Parts: sequence; structure tokens; C-alpha cells
Amino acid sequence: MKSPLKHAPQQIALDGPSASGKTTVGTMLADRLGFGFLDTGMMYRAVTLIALRKSTPLDDVYEVGHIAETATFEVDRRADSDWRLIVDDEDLTEDLHSERVNRYVSPVSAISDVRRALVRHQREIADRGPIVMVGRDIGTVVLADAPLKIYLDAKPGTRANRRTSDIRGNTDRRRYEEILLSIKKRDEIDSNRADSPLRPAEDAVIINTDDLDAVEVVNQILGLIGIGGSTQHRPTEVGANAS
Ligand code: C5P
Repeated sequence: MKSPLKHAPQQIALDGPSASGKTTVGTMLADRLGFGFLDTGMMYRAVTLIALRKSTPLDDVYEVGHIAETATFEVDRRADSDWRLIVDDEDLTEDLHSERVNRYVSPVSAISDVRRALVRHQREIADRGPIVMVGRDIGTVVLADAPLKIYLDAKPGTRANRRTSDIRGNTDRRRYEEILLSIKKRDEIDSNRADSPLRPAEDAVIINTDDLDAVEVVNQILGLIGIGGSTQHRPTEVGANAS
């Protein structure tokens, strides 16, 4: 990994709805700058997974909040592969995107005790060094003082298309409709919850990714920092493994 660039903002907040391309763009940007990377959605997913595994009732806000409070979170990366989330010494990454977790993660994320605990963990991770952090409330809450805030947006149909094509060889129209519905449901819960709803920070730069691929988005962000977009143009979809 390259050493961090002195003139780049040391914290970059990257928010947006599901499948807007945050993870793909954030990972590429972090690599380009030599920064750490944290996908906070994985942390909300991990708390949901642990609660489901323990059969904790998801409306028991005290117990679910306790899981978020007491868990330990580490991010790890082996060679050039994706970032992993290690929770209580277990790599949970592969289990975080199941249908079950998808279904329950937004209600769990609306619990204030969960948010308070995870925001604390996220700030501790940010304190370790330069970082690109992606989520829903990074620019508004977690890193409200970040010098650069980006909000990625795209139409629900575009985002559902990206998620559908993540599933290898999947061209099933019904699958697309299911994914579209799930994305719209999560958008609605995330945007209307009382605590830290999904919205762009007032000082965020909004980038619509409907007609852009990941490299084009990364190059736009590098342009904002004043770094020429020398990221190679490969045909990477914004939404490849997008979140
Ligand atoms: O980004 P991803 O789709 O993996 O996030 C899963 C869910 O976690 C979101 O739908 C949202 O409910 C929640 N989340 C959140 N705040 C964040 C990141 C994710 O509420 N900072």
C-alpha cells in the first residue's frame, strides 16, 4: 500500500443508499490514497447476524444494544482481496450479506443504543490513521468534521440492476424485482428513522452515479482533492459488490 498523501484530506466520508457504489468506490479511493477503509454497513450487519445467531429478539433494544456495545471490531485485508470484518476474533465477512441479514439489518440499525455503540467503535478506528469511511451517517454524525464528504446517489432501478448482476449469470427478472423491493424497503427505513436518517450532509458533494462507472467516480473525487485522475480505466461497474 502507498504511504498516505500529505495534501489529501485525512478523513473522507462517503455516504449513500444501498448499492450506490460506496464500497467499490471507497475501496479504490482508499487504495489510491494509501488510506485505511471501513465499510460501516458491515458492522450493522454483524450486529444483526450475531443477534440472529443468538436468537435475541430484535425488538429487545437493550440486548441488541449490548451486543453492539461489547463486541470488538477489527478490519483486516489479505493481499489485494476485499476488506474483512473480524468481530470478537471471528471473520464474519462471508455471512454478512445473506437474505436474512438483508431483511433485518435496517430495523436493527434504527436502534439508538446500537448506533451509539457502533459510532463509538467507528471513531476509534478512524483515530488510528487516514481513512475512507463509508455508510449512511458518516458525513452527518460519525465524522461530521471530515474535510471531504461525498454522497453517492443513483436511481433505485440502477442500483437493483447492479445488485442483480453481482449474482453470477443471473438474468432472472423476478430476482431483479425482489432486489428492487428489498432496496426500496431499506431506503425507506434508513431515510425515515428518527436517529441519524440517511441524508447528505449540508457540505457534501453529491455525485449521481447512474451514468458513471466506478473509475469515473473515483477520478471525480480525486479531482476534488486536486489529484489528477491517474486511476486506470478498467470496466469496473460502480456496483460490483456495491453497498
Ligand atoms: O451499506 P449496507 O447496505 O451494507 O448497510 C446495511 C444497512 O446498515 C443499511 O441498510 C442501513 O440500515 C445500515 N447502516 C446504517 N448506518 C451506516 C451504515 C449502514 O444505518 N453508517
